[in-house]
Amino acid sequence: TTETDYFAIDDSFAGSLFNPRNDFAHKGNYGKAVIVGGSYGKIGAAVLATKSVLKTGAGLTFTLAPQCGYEILQATCPEAMFIEGGNRSIKCFDIDKESTVGVGPGLGTQEETKKGLLTFLKDYQSPLVLDADALNIISEDQKNLQLIPKRSIITPHPKEFERLFGKTENSFKRLELAREKAKELNIYIVLKDHHTQVVIPEGNVYYNLTGNAGLAKGGSGDILTGILTSLLAQGYSEKNTCILGVWLHGKAADFASEKHSKESMLPTDVIDELGNVFIELN
Ligand code: AMP
Ligand code: MG
Repeated sequence: TTETDYFAIDDSFAGSLFNPRNDFAHKGNYGKAVIVGGSYGKIGAAVLATKSVLKTGAGLTFTLAPQCGYEILQATCPEAMFIEGGNRSIKCFDIDKESTVGVGPGLGTQEETKKGLLTFLKDYQSPLVLDADALNIISEDQKNLQLIPKRSIITPHPKEFERLFGKTENSFKRLELAREKAKELNIYIVLKDHHTQVVIPEGNVYYNLTGNAGLAKGGSGDILTGILTSLLAQGYSEKNTCILGVWLHGKAADFASEKHSKESMLPTDVIDELGNVFIELN
């Protein structure tokens, strides 16, 4: 095995990765991000991810979602553009190559969605962010792991990790397995937990120090997917996207818990605090 270096992601490390906005910038300088997600009854997940993309600073934001989400998305995220991908769930993943894609929140696991996703992954060769049901679909067949484009970022919680790569005895063994898989598949694994671990293909592991149990609620992960997709679209490297992204997500959650308590804070409140985190970074 290769030697591993373990690092903590603290405020100063995250701050050193942050790129302030250029005064002369126009929207074309900050990328084109596409969230692919939502299905009947889970359009909210696509809304949360899309809002997070917007609030993290992407230049242009799109949501590819089923038709049943059209009015909801246009009304809740007026800054984002809608791409229709199906009727009640997504079947058509029609995305151009210059876009930076984050797939999974609320996606569902309908047959048409499974087929569409696997076909899309086969010919989309650029790094993308894969989460939630995108990972659950991939988990159904070990061969699907080979379809993940090199240098992609996957964001499994412990259960999704287990579905992808199998059961491990404890969290140390899980981290070792994540290191093996990150290397073998040439991907970044964001192992979501109390202290989220970013595992990079070269073997290093980065522990996040921000975040709190107020995030232990449905919708928290969808926000992380939006943040990561937005940073990647803006030109951050895959590694810096993961490190800065998990820190931002946790920091916004820490601000939200101070204002609202861990009990009452909602993922929406976390999105609303992103601005205060950026004020601190600037
Ligand atoms: P998901 O399960 O996909 O909704 O993702 C949950 C998100 O919330 C991940 O980013 C986790 O790291 C974070 N999270 C959940 N529970 C906790 C906790 N007890 N402490 C810190 N972060 C947490
Ligand atoms: Mg999730």
